[in-house]
Amino acid sequence: MNPKRAIFLDRDGTLIEEVGYLDRPERVELFPWSIDAIRAFNRAGWRVVIVTNQSGVARGFLTIDVVEQVHRHLDDLLHEGGAVIDAYYYCPHHPDGKVAEYARACDCRKPARGLVDRATRELGIDPRRSFAVGDRWLDVALAREVGAAGVLVRTGYGLTEEQRPVNGLAADAVVDNLAAAASWILQNRRSAI
Ligand SMILES: [Mg+2]
Ligand SMILES: [Zn+2]
Repeated sequence: MNPKRAIFLDRDGTLIEEVGYLDRPERVELFPWSIDAIRAFNRAGWRVVIVTNQSGVARGFLTIDVVEQVHRHLDDLLHEGGAVIDAYYYCPHHPDGKVAEYARACDCRKPARGLVDRATRELGIDPRRSFAVGDRWLDVALAREVGAAGVLVRTGYGLTEEQRPVNGLAADAVVDNLAAAASWILQNRRSAI
């Protein structure tokens, strides 16, 4: 059996509007194209896996429970449009946090590869046939780290990030938003992987 390929998708600024620490489900706002983009990945047989840094948990701005409520709410919104996220992985840690349980260095805060490693183990994904998509250079760095291709989107912090290149780090594509990322990936999958 071929290991599955996946889109390791950043959440804030990529799938939904960047609003700072997202501490209530009602503040979730999908971009207008997000449902169509996720559905396109679903139809093409890609797993869609959210990988997101949620240091607000360690900092005491939100709880694990809130993160999970946000993800259930996101699922409701996506399902209404026939789109499916296969799994959510988040890092609640930060070395400078205030909440003792989560205030530490970890191996899962992007660009570290811990979340992707868990996903590949639990879902049977081959990261080298996969893509990471996000609005920060750390999302591209994560792609490099796991041998995936990396796409930077210009939503969220993406425009600012694009203007501040990181030495030695190039995206495989820089595109306007998740819809453009989906088109690019689905058109280039044969040559890119
Ligand atoms: Mg982001
Ligand atoms: Zn972590």
